Amino acid sequence: MSGDDCFEILNKIFKAKNPESIENIKGYTIKYGNIIDENKKIVDEVLVSYFKAPKSYTTENMCEINTHGGVVILRNILDLCLKNGANLAEPGEFTKRAFLNGRIDLLQAESVIDIIHAKSEKEAKNSINQLEGHLSKKINEIKQKIMNVMVNVEVAIDYPEYDEGDATNEELLNMFSEVKSDLTRLEASFDNGKIIKEGIKTAIIGRPNAGKSSLLNAILKEERAIVTDIEGTTRDTIEEFVNINGIPLKLVDTAGIRETDNEVEKIGVVKSKKIANDADLIIAIFDSSKDLTDEDKEILDIIKGKKVIIVLNKIDLENKIDEKNEYLKNISDNIVKISALNETGIENIYDKINEMFNLNEINLDNGTVITNLRHKNLISKAIENVNKAEETLEKGMPTDVIAIFIKDILEALGEITGEEVTENIINEIFARFCLGK
Ligand code: GDP
Repeated sequence: MSGDDCFEILNKIFKAKNPESIENIKGYTIKYGNIIDENKKIVDEVLVSYFKAPKSYTTENMCEINTHGGVVILRNILDLCLKNGANLAEPGEFTKRAFLNGRIDLLQAESVIDIIHAKSEKEAKNSINQLEGHLSKKINEIKQKIMNVMVNVEVAIDYPEYDEGDATNEELLNMFSEVKSDLTRLEASFDNGKIIKEGIKTAIIGRPNAGKSSLLNAILKEERAIVTDIEGTTRDTIEEFVNINGIPLKLVDTAGIRETDNEVEKIGVVKSKKIANDADLIIAIFDSSKDLTDEDKEILDIIKGKKVIIVLNKIDLENKIDEKNEYLKNISDNIVKISALNETGIENIYDKINEMFNLNEINLDNGTVITNLRHKNLISKAIENVNKAEETLEKGMPTDVIAIFIKDILEALGEITGEEVTENIINEIFARFCLGK
């Protein structure tokens, strides 16, 4: 519970073994005792943690009741709190209060959701960096630079007669260019950010019996770090996440592959085409113990020009095709030989993925990475306005026009950290939280 009355409500339902008045209980203290109902019956034996304003998650008075868990006990204690005057928290309300009370900015609040939903180590690490305020600091530095430009521009507006001492157009242009390069770097980091957050959407395709489900099983078995089975956007797809070097690989349409246990339902070329069009990475698998069939060639036509790894499977058998095959070489140089059955060569696929997506370069210690589309869009908006301001300066237009663009830049950056944000946006952001966070 959080808020002015939380200790009063707690008092009505909690009997400590060593009672003390709330004034005497220090923050960050845990007390032992029982939760009791209106008939003085013990509901559970609990520990209660006390946090006193402003030193708490929300900056308000807070208490946390640690119970034995279980649905019935939790329900009963929750009901008792509500009966005695507490309100049920909205999703994300604790974090929202921390934001509204000024303990964290909006960027940091959003990172809490990302930490909770993180599917890979890198994503979690990046979110924690963001909670620690790394991105906020960067944005605030850029804002400060823009403010400096603003000061110079405003002097020129307010005291046009004092030509001397004004920043020249050239100096202003230099300031803008510095801001722009900072913003552009952040904007560009989103490509890596997207990979960190959403994973590389990967499709395994190949004609029936090439070894798709065997490969899938080999990957899933080796990578015990399978994180989640999330229902895809359409009802019959399942998205499975596998961690490769801390980056999630989102395997799409694995349900379709699994169905292939049933001979009749093997994925056809038409379906492969649809899946391939939608993926960031295609793993196209071929049976190397057989010559390329017409169906194989159709698949090769589909993947031509896409980000693809050609996997030659069944190398434990006598090979009919290998990496020197002209037809294959014509499609891609990324050719890997494996035996899905014996689970050999799978790591060569990972090495290729590393190489193709520069995964080793995604080093979170070396810079700030944007993972949130909302932030990226606002940064792009800020860049647009820097461009407009530069243009205005170059054309020698009046300084007050520049001031308008500068305000727009500051507004976009302020919307990222939450100073300029509307209530609707705030509500939208916190609605993504789960209850009680
Ligand atoms: P899919 O239809 O593409 O999903 O292919 P499957 O994974 O079901 O494999 C088809 C058949 O090839 C099965 O009998 C597998 O056991 C066999 N198979 C798959 N990979 C290998 C391999 O590396 N070596 C050998 N010898 N057989 C394999």
